[in-house]
Amino acid sequence: MKKRINLSLAKMSGHEQKYIQEAFDTNWVVPLGPNVNAFEQSLADYLGGEKKVVALSSGTAALHLALIQLGVGPGDEVICQSFTFAASANPIKYLGATPVFVDSEEDTWNMSPGFLREAVEDRIALTGRKPKAIIPVHLYGMPAKMDEIMAIANEFEIPVLEDAAEALGSEYKGKKCGTFGKFACLSFNGNKMITTSGGGALVCTNEEDAGETMFYATQACDEAPHYQHSKIGYNYRMSNICAGIGRGQMHVLDSHVARRKEINQFYSEKLDGFPGVSLLKNPSADFVSNHWLTCVMVNEAEAGFSREELRLVMEAANIETRPLWKPMHLQPVFADAPYYGDGTSEKLFEIGLCLPSSPVLTEEDLMRVVNCIFEMNQTSTALRYTQ
Ligand SMILES: *Cc1c(COP(=O)(O)O)cnc(C)c1O
Repeated sequence: MKKRINLSLAKMSGHEQKYIQEAFDTNWVVPLGPNVNAFEQSLADYLGGEKKVVALSSGTAALHLALIQLGVGPGDEVICQSFTFAASANPIKYLGATPVFVDSEEDTWNMSPGFLREAVEDRIALTGRKPKAIIPVHLYGMPAKMDEIMAIANEFEIPVLEDAAEALGSEYKGKKCGTFGKFACLSFNGNKMITTSGGGALVCTNEEDAGETMFYATQACDEAPHYQHSKIGYNYRMSNICAGIGRGQMHVLDSHVARRKEINQFYSEKLDGFPGVSLLKNPSADFVSNHWLTCVMVNEAEAGFSREELRLVMEAANIETRPLWKPMHLQPVFADAPYYGDGTSEKLFEIGLCLPSSPVLTEEDLMRVVNCIFEMNQTSTALRYTQ
């Protein structure tokens, strides 16, 4: 059996242990400290220097704390992109609110501005109240149509919480993803652009919001010599050890982004003209995806094989692939939630497959993946001729 090719694995820079060693040497083995501060600062600088960043235990925690600060509570509605990972929507439910799911459009696979407008207008007409927030996602690193989404959000005065968990390093109109909304979440889970083993961050617009985020992330302690609480708090701060890994990873963030783009380019060139298999491309120069994961769409009628057949052949060749995210409006747990769309994300879910995209992959590994697809075609072509 050939060695396993994984979908998306972390790659260390070699600097991580130095920062962890410093934490041990100085006894900063706590959920705050020099690594946390430095990691936050370097993320803020990376994002262009206008935002404040608070490092947290996960991207999910970041979304949760943002929704709390946006005043989301029981009975409220929050608009969320349907085509995403469940972590985008779960925090809405933590707060007793209802997610309202909006479908994607084909250019970016992200929130359709048309259905967003329809959802906002319809919810206001039906409930007499505005949704409390809008959560667009930059899925697989592809920037959402932020100009159109922000225009609708501003028109109705609804704050935007960007889910940039997969989009660190992506840019829309020359500006980094994660800097458009009032808040944005980042994730440093083991499979994302950079890792802290597990972790996340909330990107905030100003010092006040960052302070509030820290307050909720550290059990909401009022200012007093004793422990006094007037709000419910959480234990969501990032550990100084994890932040040491994050600091080390910042040394290779640019090269990780470059490598993922190269991998996308490799797949794109090799599969160019291949019948029935296509890739999502940056729709114009305004969109620069970090290509966190390269995904293909399999048109069964043209290709002669289905997405699922391809996945099984890859698995038999010890190559890990994954169907695209199953839309939230199709998930049993969200069956009752309102949905606005035309089935675009459902179709993508049926035909889409994520290909191995880790920066650790060699050209030889990538060629194994591509050859699997080439061989599918030969088998299916041979079958068609013998029939
Ligand atoms: C990974 C991910 C998250 C959650 O991040 P965690 O750090 O794993 O909690 C949220 N949204 C999307 C789209 C993600 O891919």
